[in-house]
Amino acid sequence: MSSEKNKPEVRFTGVGVSSGIARGTIYVVRDDFEDVVRYRIQPSEIAGEIGRFETALIQTRAQILEMQQQIAEAIGAKDAGIFDAHLLVVEDRTLIDEVLRKLETDLCNVEFIFQEVATHYAETLGKIDDPYLRERALDIQDVTRRVVRNLQGKAPKAFLGLTTEHILVAHNITPSDTATMNREHVLGLATDLGSRTSHTAIMARSLEIPAVVGLHDVTGKLETGQEVLLDGYNGLLILNPTAETLWLYGELKHRKELVAEQLTGLRETISTTRDGRHVVLSANIELPDDVHSVTENGAEGIGLYRTEFLYLNRPVLPTEEEQYETYRTVAERVAPHPLIIRTFDLGGDKIATGMEADDEQNPFMGLRAIRFCLKNLAIFKSQLRAILRASAAAGNVKIMFPMISGVHELRQALAVLEECKTELQRDGVPFSSKTEVGAMIEIPSAALCAEALAREVDFFSIGTNDLIQYAIAVDRVNEQIAHLYEPTHPAVIRLLKMVADAAHARSIWVGVCGEMAGDLAMVPLLLGLGMDELSVSASLVPRVKRAVQSLSVPECEQLVQDAMALEEPAEILGRCTEVAQRHYADLIG
Ligand code: PEP
Ligand code: MG
Repeated sequence: MSSEKNKPEVRFTGVGVSSGIARGTIYVVRDDFEDVVRYRIQPSEIAGEIGRFETALIQTRAQILEMQQQIAEAIGAKDAGIFDAHLLVVEDRTLIDEVLRKLETDLCNVEFIFQEVATHYAETLGKIDDPYLRERALDIQDVTRRVVRNLQGKAPKAFLGLTTEHILVAHNITPSDTATMNREHVLGLATDLGSRTSHTAIMARSLEIPAVVGLHDVTGKLETGQEVLLDGYNGLLILNPTAETLWLYGELKHRKELVAEQLTGLRETISTTRDGRHVVLSANIELPDDVHSVTENGAEGIGLYRTEFLYLNRPVLPTEEEQYETYRTVAERVAPHPLIIRTFDLGGDKIATGMEADDEQNPFMGLRAIRFCLKNLAIFKSQLRAILRASAAAGNVKIMFPMISGVHELRQALAVLEECKTELQRDGVPFSSKTEVGAMIEIPSAALCAEALAREVDFFSIGTNDLIQYAIAVDRVNEQIAHLYEPTHPAVIRLLKMVADAAHARSIWVGVCGEMAGDLAMVPLLLGLGMDELSVSASLVPRVKRAVQSLSVPECEQLVQDAMALEEPAEILGRCTEVAQRHYADLIG
């Protein structure tokens, strides 16, 4: 690649969420609709396109009516009336006639034409200074999405099928898009939306794809085919990089490679502090294939296997048998180290096929994780049976329940697990009766009730990604309030301390598997709080190991003591960074 001559370099600043540098040509996906690819049709195909359009409109109408009925039953006919306006859109003759006319003149696929016509229509209405018409523009956008989705069926998104190397620049990328991405072709990711703890960012780190999110409206400023440099360390997207920029980045890459090389020497070493305390350092995985990077990076097992990723973007859930095979294979590959399998955490930003995201107003506080499983017992039980069966293979499997909010819920989950054990025993199917069970502590109510929860389980794993979002009421995927998402908020530190103290008072171990554990500035704080385990993205394991090996427990405990006396998150962060800088400045710079 060479930067285009005479074109000025332009820099866009966002948040670097997956380190690394990528250079290449971009492919721009502007929003949900961008996925609608335009293709030409023959005049003889027009009738077929009209047929598809009619079917999609009928389907959309039926969906709106069904939704309207559900709402009428739940909250009354008056509120259901808002969908009358949506019904008017699917019957709008001006809109429909314009689509039919353009089919004749433009000779291209109907979803493209419909999207174009409807978007133009909505934009025109949206510009008129009349609240009623502006509302109507929103109705049109909403219905357009539905019609387009129906026209597309469940067709895979076009950008997932690209077969040439590119840097994907998108308005938003869902975790399931990332899970199904061909990493051979995707050199880097850049998005308008997003944050560090979104599952898309987590996935990018696992796949070791450089990524920058929160670039606001960058998709509106770039075109497919332009050449860029993406800096995942500093959160920069650089259009038309100059020769000097390219040279500087060549240097940076070289320095980073040197540090990485030095770190590979740590692979066989243990994460023990200078004064001899062993902190288990494990890795988080999303897909079974990630196992190779767990051992490659020298982790002591898997502290969090996000099983739901295997099931995003599939029309049906896998059978118990298929799950058993998958879990067993992962367990055998990571043995003799432990494998902590988290039961499905569907919901929030991880929407499986068949679960409609927009059916919930607050998906992160909705039917997610253990709540979903306790409501869908057949799904839950088939997963638990599969995990239990896999535990017989290498004896290293542990089970963990996500989003536990209190004792009652935990006991319900444990009762279902007991039921599965009884059934397996009855059928003579082997499993390890010593399988440890843990609870994720990621809701403030669970942290506050940690003493009671500790009586029920063998370990705790703190999900700081969620714990922070719920404690401070900051949506973890909303880039507009990302500055409020502060792991060093005094409230967060108190919650963490409460959980660690409760676990130790009941003699169970406690770990942290949220992204905070992989943040080098936070490692001293977590050690000082007494965490027994840190579970991080596999690629971060060598750096975190070096950090642990450089620190001593008394110094970390002093840091916690100091932090508990401070009131501002920034002050606490400053103290943490000072300790980290003192011991491993080269890793942080
Ligand atoms: C967490 O919430 O910190 C966690 C590890 O789980 P997830 O990121 O999958 O919600
Ligand atoms: Mg979580």
